Amino acid sequence: MRRHTQIFSVRSRSRIETIDISSEVVEAVRQSGVAEGIVCVSTPHTTAAIYVNENERGLRQDVVVALAQRLLDAGGSYEHNRVDSNAQAHLAAILVGNAVLLPVSGGHPELGTWQSIFFLELDGPRTRTVSVKVVASGGNAPASGVA
Ligand code: ZN
Repeated sequence: MRRHTQIFSVRSRSRIETIDISSEVVEAVRQSGVAEGIVCVSTPHTTAAIYVNENERGLRQDVVVALAQRLLDAGGSYEHNRVDSNAQAHLAAILVGNAVLLPVSGGHPELGTWQSIFFLELDGPRTRTVSVKVVASGGNAPASGVA
């Protein structure tokens, strides 16, 4: 079983921000040479998340506003705010999740016509890390044709 991992940085510029990382993931899968398998896109942070959805400007703004108004700025008293005042960012990250899994077919991550892969900043601006790990399903040749 082949494994390939690539790490790249994402620079957020706002407290809450959606960043389309589809092209980076597609390129990481291509460079892995894996034709058929699974790709795991993850982020090793506790106030950021990864999700798959539509890259439509209005929807991206809706994601930011929904998270800000309904969770991040919703008030409330949180124990963690005694440490560093970002409990809501942690809670939003837990709800969205820090990783997505996608099938790899024909050397590409399987995405629907309207699907893109997003990094979700919840406590920016910061420089963040994203990991792309590609695992080939057993017995298939790499996409490059190199045996
Ligand atoms: Zn914290």
